[in-house]
Amino acid sequence: MTKLRLAIVGAGPAGIYAADILLKAERKFDVSIDLFEQLPAPYGLVRYGVAPDHPRIKGVISALRDVLDRGDIRIFGNVRFGEDITIDDLKKHYNAVIFATGAVLDSDLDIPGIRAKGSYGAADFVSWFDGHPDVPREWPLEAESVAVIGNGNVALDVARMLAKHPEDLLPTEIPDNVHAGLVASPVTDVHVFGRRGPAQVKFTPLELRELGELRDVDMVVYDEDFDYDDASRAAIETNKQVKVIDRVLQSWRQRPAANGAGGEASRRLHLHFYAKPLEVKTDADGNVTALAYERTRPDGQGGVEGTGEIREVPIQALYRAVGYFGSPLPGVPFDKRHGVIPNHEGQVIRKDSNERVPGVYATGWIKRGPVGLIGHTKSDAMETVRHLINDQGSWWAPEDPSENAIPALLAERGVQWTDLEGWHRLDEHEIALGAPHERARIKVVPRDEMVRISRGEEDAESRR
Ligand SMILES: Cc1cc2nc3c(=O)[nH]c(=O)nc-3n(C[C@H](O)[C@H](O)[C@H](O)COP(=O)(O)OP(=O)(O)OC[C@H]3O[C@@H](n4cnc5c(N)ncnc54)[C@H](O)[C@@H]3O)c2cc1C
Repeated sequence: MTKLRLAIVGAGPAGIYAADILLKAERKFDVSIDLFEQLPAPYGLVRYGVAPDHPRIKGVISALRDVLDRGDIRIFGNVRFGEDITIDDLKKHYNAVIFATGAVLDSDLDIPGIRAKGSYGAADFVSWFDGHPDVPREWPLEAESVAVIGNGNVALDVARMLAKHPEDLLPTEIPDNVHAGLVASPVTDVHVFGRRGPAQVKFTPLELRELGELRDVDMVVYDEDFDYDDASRAAIETNKQVKVIDRVLQSWRQRPAANGAGGEASRRLHLHFYAKPLEVKTDADGNVTALAYERTRPDGQGGVEGTGEIREVPIQALYRAVGYFGSPLPGVPFDKRHGVIPNHEGQVIRKDSNERVPGVYATGWIKRGPVGLIGHTKSDAMETVRHLINDQGSWWAPEDPSENAIPALLAERGVQWTDLEGWHRLDEHEIALGAPHERARIKVVPRDEMVRISRGEEDAESRR
């Protein structure tokens, strides 16, 4: 029987679901899968993107772990495609590759002052609070008044993590350095800005409602944003999600803190709609001092237009949460405009000619862009795997498909890779660190420590 030796690059949900779907699919050949991941731990943005105070979503990890624990997928963690292993290596040892490398960079926001000191990308902050090994341990939380630009769930995650009292995050898996950083934060006001109106936001009702339940944080909405036009009214009437969002916002309009008056909490989270960011103002040293924005109004067709009215909110820090963006991979076609690997239903194509690149596939956020929930990566993977199975005639013919070729190659290059057993070791270590404090786990952050623990080079007991 023919055998498909498959490499999957990226052990986020997309990569793991692709492996699972292929192994369970009806097919006329055997399969052996090697999963390469640049980090010493799997699960991608479920571990390093989903907020720590969303344990239900983090729980997706159990389902992904069940797939890996079955033992029919080999894992090579701490191996970076493009550096430790290349496309030529893969061609030499596999019949095909699926890239599932996701998107980790912040999309840009092209307004003056966006590079000022104190202006950050949400993705970097998310990486910090989720204990990503490749970002600095320290995060400057010195601002009393902060702006968050964006009207999607990531903007709400960032605003919530900034406004929430750190004691309320203690039962979660936040790393110690993150807790310490948040305790030192003097923040009193977090302002979230969206260009459009309440009926056009991209966040989901659950994420919004949660803000209103934060202890000692007043939600502040402004009456001027609720003068709905026909398009907004129609959206509220016809779309259940928009209707719930409107209901939540209307309930906050009834609270004493509405319009910025009254309210007794020590922190406030303001939602400003119809506000288009124009410029980040700075002082002589280049530090953020204010956000200038233009008030917009509905254009009658579900969009907005400028009113010419310019306003300013004093702030000392700003986070842009206007989307994520994929990164190019050496030797693999890349669409610079959309930040994705160009593809037709997961079959990778050349950017200029639309010609198929045999043996090369994509799935997840790097395939269709950084939108959608974890569940969407499953349907994505099904489509990609269907093509991979049907394309048997165009797979690569590897020179050396033997299973021991890759460990030998990595060893020769001095790569300190981690495997499934190593991940179990790290997992148990993190759970044990949390146990005395009645916390689910305390994440290990430094990469070298993660690797040492995974490879059994460190006595877990002695580090506690
Ligand atoms: C802040 C934030 C919060 C979110 N919250 C939720 C939520 O609450 N609920 C929900 O359903 N969805 C949420 N999502 C969306 C969800 O995280 C994504 O839908 C999902 O993670 C995309 O999966 P993926 O596998 O394509 O990418 P990723 O999860 O990013 O996985 C990609 C993997 O590839 C690896 N990789 C990248 N480059 C290389 C390389 N060169 N070599 C080797 N490995 C590489 C990465 O390290 C990573 O592990 C959130 C996203 C963000 C950003």
